[in-house]
Amino acid sequence: MTGFQTSFLRERPRVAVIGGGISGLSAAHRLGNDFPVTVFEAEQRLGGHSSTVIVNTPVGEQPIDTGFIVFNDRNYPNFSALLDEIGARHVPSNMSFSVSDLDGRYEYAGSSPNALYATRRNLVRPAFHRMVGDLVRFNNDAKRLVVAGDVDDDTSLRDFLDAGGYSKEFIEKLIVPQVSAVWSADPAQLYSFPARIVFEFFNNHGILELRGRPKWQTIRGGSATYVAKLRAATNAEFHTGTAVEAVRRGEQGVAIKLSDGAEVIFDEVIFATHSDQALDLLVDSTVDEQQVLGAIPYQRNDVVLHSDESLLPRRRAARASWNYHLLDQPRERTTVTYWMNNLQPIAGDQNYMVTLNLTDQIDPASVIKHQSFSHPVFTREGLAAQRRHAEISGVNRTHFCGAYWRWGFHEDGAWSGLRVARMIADAHRESQVAATA
Ligand SMILES: Cc1cc2nc3c(=O)[nH]c(=O)nc-3n(C[C@H](O)[C@H](O)[C@H](O)COP(=O)(O)OP(=O)(O)OC[C@H]3O[C@@H](n4cnc5c(N)ncnc54)[C@H](O)[C@@H]3O)c2cc1C
Repeated sequence: MTGFQTSFLRERPRVAVIGGGISGLSAAHRLGNDFPVTVFEAEQRLGGHSSTVIVNTPVGEQPIDTGFIVFNDRNYPNFSALLDEIGARHVPSNMSFSVSDLDGRYEYAGSSPNALYATRRNLVRPAFHRMVGDLVRFNNDAKRLVVAGDVDDDTSLRDFLDAGGYSKEFIEKLIVPQVSAVWSADPAQLYSFPARIVFEFFNNHGILELRGRPKWQTIRGGSATYVAKLRAATNAEFHTGTAVEAVRRGEQGVAIKLSDGAEVIFDEVIFATHSDQALDLLVDSTVDEQQVLGAIPYQRNDVVLHSDESLLPRRRAARASWNYHLLDQPRERTTVTYWMNNLQPIAGDQNYMVTLNLTDQIDPASVIKHQSFSHPVFTREGLAAQRRHAEISGVNRTHFCGAYWRWGFHEDGAWSGLRVARMIADAHRESQVAATA
């Protein structure tokens, strides 16, 4: 049974959107003027990974983002168009990357020669020079393979690095930290991470080039500002603080059980949650849904906003916007500190940081907000599952969106929300034409 057989012939289908992150909001925004849309969000606030904390700083209250922070002028076409449409303003940000250990023995950043050799001992270490040389080689090799379309999904990053004879220092202290930080992924998992995702993402984002890199931006007033504008510009009914507990599909509609015990019926449902959450909600999940959604798991990360500067590299020259921490004992999680003053316009001298998965190293007195966000874990099986979207979405009154359908970033959420919205609108139009023919 397709989702459009009964409901679309009747009237405009009533659409439920489960999840009020960028994916659900972009779908609701696109559909809201043409269909009756209701958004259910478990949290009291909309935005999901768009999370802004109003911090009481020495120079007054200031917004600081703890989730989504930056986007750029090249790789975020759908998200940028949405911002333009709703009139959300943005300002330049700064993207730079550092790697350091916790006791200050090893620190470097990529922003300048002085930052690269911030630990002066590295000037005379051949292994460090080889690491830098390997970066140039990696960029050239990756670019060549992407341009030639010559990377299959079976090649892991580990396979590629082994075959290329890359040095231990390049692997452990440069490329694994960088990929781990970009995808908030367990550094150990990166050995099975598909090389294709890394190459294509790095190539699209200009990371393989020294010149012509995209210009990074951050939302003026914090990401909550765009979320508020998007809500105001969306013709939908919003229920925040309302978790969906179960979803069952039937001939007459989709039954949605809410946290207050109520059951509501819709014609179509859009899952804009994470893949594992969507699967948990489906009491009548099909084998295809179990296979596809189950192939893209999520991993939980501890996220702390604080003012403890000891989480930044000790040498000022080595401080960057994104600071990756090397650990003697890996934690099966990425360990990175975002230096928010470098990423967002924060007035005053006080430094603010957002640190992932190193909560025990942060002075408890400096902690402002402690949160937990989950990120998708990408594997070869996950890439294959992404290609099966049409097998489970647009079928049986059910549609799936979320950043996990592509690379896991904000643009991917916006793109995936628009993809399901377009499908619903197109299918409705076609059913109208068929009914009047
Ligand atoms: C710390 C951090 C930093 C990041 N930085 C960047 C960045 O700088 N640039 C970038 O492009 N990307 C960044 N990302 C990634 C990006 O922000 C996310 O991938 C994207 O926002 C995810 O959007 P989403 O709509 O798929 O999921 P989410 O934003 O997670 O939204 C899912 C929503 O579903 C709701 N939900 C779940 N279950 C239920 C239920 N049962 N009933 C009702 N509602 C439910 C959740 O509460 C949530 O609001 C970052 C992510 C994090 C965590």
